[in-house]
Parts: sequence; structure tokens; C-alpha cells
Amino acid sequence: MKKLIQGIIEFRKKRAPEEKKLFARLAKEQRPDALFIACADSRVAPNVFASTNPGDLFVIRNVGNIVPPIEACDTGMIAALEFAALTLKVADIIVCGHSGCGAIDAVKYGTACCPHMEKWVEYAAHEGGDLTQANVLKQLEHLKSYPFLKEIRLHGWWFNIEEAAVYAYDDKTKRFVLIDDLHN
Ligand SMILES: [Zn+2]
Repeated sequence: MKKLIQGIIEFRKKRAPEEKKLFARLAKEQRPDALFIACADSRVAPNVFASTNPGDLFVIRNVGNIVPPIEACDTGMIAALEFAALTLKVADIIVCGHSGCGAIDAVKYGTACCPHMEKWVEYAAHEGGDLTQANVLKQLEHLKSYPFLKEIRLHGWWFNIEEAAVYAYDDKTKRFVLIDDLHN
């Protein structure tokens, strides 16, 4: 906790004055470009690896970057997706998985101590080569079950923690490629 509090004090002293204009603008409204769905894992920090600022991304995070299909009636998820699509009108949705995901370990090895986790990961991928990558594709499929997301572009990303590198799913080659290569 000490580190966290120290960070807040430091932010208020140094960065907040520097970003005064940005926060004054953000106080009036938010206009994020994209909805970013990521794992709750502490090592996955989208604002760091995508160099984004406050206001750039609307973010949903949970264990395993899972989007239950609409039939699952997960009110929290449906509300967040509705808000992103219908109020904020985001143009893109990114599902971002990562290497060494604990949710996928739970799929592979089970997790007797966390019964709710076991139920939650029923929505994760249960087959495929690299399950953490297959899980990204599975969640993209689930997003397609939401009629109000039809017009929004969907993207599958995967963060390799050791390399600190982001890979994007390439529809043409059907594999994840370094995002630099896909967009150069
Ligand atoms: Zn994870």
C-alpha cells in the first residue's frame, strides 16, 4: 500500500499540474477511440504498453479477458458493452489476452479453491494450440453474439509479458503477428 499512496502523492505533485489542460477537458466529457477488454492480471497495463493517455481507452478488465456470450445474461458485461457502443460510440473493440494467463491455467489444471473461477472460465477457450491466444479468438466470437456491436470493428491482441510486445491476430495468415509488422 505504501508504494501506491506514494505514487498518488507523486502524481498529484508532478504529473497533475503538467496535465492540467488535459484533465480540464476530460472533466467535461470522455471520447475514447476504443473499448479495450483485457485481463485483470497486474502485469498487463494497456496504458503503459500502448502509451495511451487518460481519456483514450474505455476499459473492461476481468479474469481472463472473458466476454460471456449474450445468452449468459451477464448484466455487468452487457451494461459496459452497451455504454461503450451506444453512448460512447467507440469505433473499435480490442480483446487483449496475454502469456501466462492464470485464467487459462485454471482451464488447464482446474482450481479447486475458487469455485466461482471454475464457473467463469467455462466461457474461456478449452481447445487450441496456445490456449491464451485461442481464448482471444473465442471472446471475439462471443462479441459477435451482441447485435448492437455489429457495426464495430473487432481486433484480437495478445501481450507477451517476457518480450513486453503486443501481437495482433492477422485474419489473412490466421495467426498472431507482431503488431509492428502488421501495421508497417
Ligand atoms: Zn490473465
